Amino acid sequence: MSAGTYRCTQCGKDLTVSSTKHLPPCSACGNGSYRTITGGDSVDDPYPDKGQKTRHD
Ligand SMILES: [Zn+2]
Repeated sequence: MSAGTYRCTQCGKDLTVSSTKHLPPCSACGNGSYRTITGGDSVDDPYPDKGQKTRHD
């Protein structure tokens, strides 16, 4: 997992992480599955492994 925002697939709660190997269970419902909203693993990013983007968050 990369830094970014993820959304619980069960209850829809957003989880924002800076860096993690795996995401913790949802604090609201305990679900462990998320979809990517923003971040390096986003399915919308065609080159998730290039790491050459410049971000200004
Ligand atoms: Zn949840």
